[in-house]
Amino acid sequence: MESDAMKPGNGNRLKNWIREVPDFPKPGILFKDITTLLKEPAALREAADLLASRFADRRVDQVVGIEARGFIFAPLVAYRLNVGFVPVRKPGKLPAATAARSYELEYGSDALEMHVDGLGSGDRVALVDDLLATGGTARAAADLVESVGARVEAVGFVVELTYLEGRRRLEGYDVVESLVRY
Ligand code: AMP
Repeated sequence: MESDAMKPGNGNRLKNWIREVPDFPKPGILFKDITTLLKEPAALREAADLLASRFADRRVDQVVGIEARGFIFAPLVAYRLNVGFVPVRKPGKLPAATAARSYELEYGSDALEMHVDGLGSGDRVALVDDLLATGGTARAAADLVESVGARVEAVGFVVELTYLEGRRRLEGYDVVESLVRY
């Protein structure tokens, strides 16, 4: 039977399946735990179907997912859109030649890598991660995609922490979607 999740709608009911864990991974952080959503078949399906539906009117050649929790949703979206999946990973994980981008964290910095041949020049990409917080991670991934000549057509998250205004880091992209907002 076809899920009704592809029908227009919002992801508000997914909130019921997201667990909030205070002081993880450090004091003061209210962690949005999606493992409780992942184990619920209808919620998992709805998250993937809804994200895919938000990209449906765009030409997307590849879905790029960001390690680690972006790897859960991005391939499901790629499957739904009938396109491929390209991983953006933490440094040192990808075996072939990579492009890298470093970005600032609250304390210190981190980096992301992608295979230089992961995307072709001119490929149109939907970028997917589980959660938009300050936007530093998604921005670095978008820069990586563009550094190999591909184009970010859309960006999508299951969760957006609107009070951190990460969306500002993604100004310039027409489609920045999130299913659940806090
Ligand atoms: P940022 O670069 O600040 O937008 O952070 C986004 C990344 O950090 C995502 O890949 C999330 O998985 C993770 N993240 C940041 N804040 C939280 C949070 N409160 N709960 C769960 N994951 C988070």
